[in-house]
Amino acid sequence: MKEFSILTLFPEAVSPYTDASILKRGQEAGLINIKTHQLRNYATNKHNTVDDTPYGGGAGMVMMVEPIDKAVQNIKKRKNARIILTSASGKRFTQQDAKRLTKYDQLIFICGRYEGVDHRVEEHIADESLSIGDYVLTGGELPALVMTDAIARLIPGVLGSPESLNQESHSQEGELEYPQYTKPETYTLSDGTETPVPEILLSGHHKNIKDWREKQTEKKSQS
Ligand code: SAM
Repeated sequence: MKEFSILTLFPEAVSPYTDASILKRGQEAGLINIKTHQLRNYATNKHNTVDDTPYGGGAGMVMMVEPIDKAVQNIKKRKNARIILTSASGKRFTQQDAKRLTKYDQLIFICGRYEGVDHRVEEHIADESLSIGDYVLTGGELPALVMTDAIARLIPGVLGSPESLNQESHSQEGELEYPQYTKPETYTLSDGTETPVPEILLSGHHKNIKDWREKQTEKKSQS
């Protein structure tokens, strides 16, 4: 069973997503285990604070290294564990990273807040720093969830139909999935426009459908 450990000041922002749908089923089937850990439980001062003002001055508060260090030491249970700092300035997370990270028995995500995290966490505690895109969020909870979701669905058995993983977007670098349609064959939009499904998909001719899909994949991937 793969362990996903999410270290956060806001566990209540994480659990509604991990307790639903495919992630919930994966946990019930014993394939993955997703746990949140309250960082404040590792505060070492009498006010239970986990952040302080930045050295050198500047706006806002920075998360302290000590509670994070103590928490990670406590949470880390598996030898083959990987510690990931969520960071807007980290390396961009891709589908290839999702595949690579399935190899670890435990993934520990550190969720920053405020102005970010004391740099010693990135330098000495985390194995890598990952960003989910070129924008700044208020915290690392969504990035941890995005990465957990992308990784967990690649673990054998987690998806109901494993064939969904074949040929999906990004399964090969730079390749995007062909367009998909379902019933009805023709839908009339509210402005009266008729939108038929491409005829070839209704032909029942498997070879032609396969060729059409390959062409569409090529077209989409090049655009
Ligand atoms: N001052 C930081 C900067 O300029 O890079 C931004 C801090 S942000 C408000 C607070 C936390 O949210 C970060 O420490 C990180 O954990 C998380 N975060 C924000 N945007 C992110 C992104 N695009 N990818 C991953 N984590 C992100």
